[in-house]
Amino acid sequence: MNSNDLADQLEFFRDIGIDSLSLHKDRITASMAAPETQNAVPIVVSNDVTTLDSIRAEIGDCQRCKLAPQRTNIVFGSGNPGAELVFVGEAPGYDEDQQGLPFVGRAGQLLTKIIESINLKREDVYICNVLKCRPPDNRNPEPDEVASCNPFLKKQLATIRPKIVCCLGTFAAQTVLQMAAPISKLRGKFFDMDGMRVIATFHPAYLLRSPDKKREVWEDMKQIRAELFRLKS
Ligand code: URA
Repeated sequence: MNSNDLADQLEFFRDIGIDSLSLHKDRITASMAAPETQNAVPIVVSNDVTTLDSIRAEIGDCQRCKLAPQRTNIVFGSGNPGAELVFVGEAPGYDEDQQGLPFVGRAGQLLTKIIESINLKREDVYICNVLKCRPPDNRNPEPDEVASCNPFLKKQLATIRPKIVCCLGTFAAQTVLQMAAPISKLRGKFFDMDGMRVIATFHPAYLLRSPDKKREVWEDMKQIRAELFRLKS
């Protein structure tokens, strides 16, 4: 549609009494003015769509928790904004903090191989973390840090709306699923959450220390591949 057609279309909406349009990603809605003001109110196009960029903008130069002063970069997440599969890790490590990108160190290289094992590419999926800033010396995330950051992870997932979320390791699994069980109990099965299928598996950094656990991760990845296939057909 060219700009003249768009102008005609908007004039048509105005003529039939529609005074505002909401351009939400999923739903375009129009609303009408009260009859007495019908012709007096100009068309207002509201653009309050949540996107990954708007979530990143909301995070800004975040100072919400005690990790802020020590970070080099906020690691928001990267990949396909329309991904059917999202991986959620724990928190940035040294390399991620330096580069501002998730899973770019040794654990990240292994994650890339894990993704490729089910015939996907890194660019096909979206990768992010529970925490957007690196904890000092890669210590475990603390509850107040998770509480500050988790709303942004939730918004990322609600915006991408993947079919499947794969949690990497204990912290991601416990945070996303809101369950206290250890990863050995949570992994390997699907949970339904807000219209998404959520599965947990071992963290790639743990696999670097315990390579014998790769077999279980491969079983979990096969489940993901099968579930993606099932959800498509
Ligand atoms: N470990 C994580 O949990 N996330 C990263 O981004 C890198 C390592």
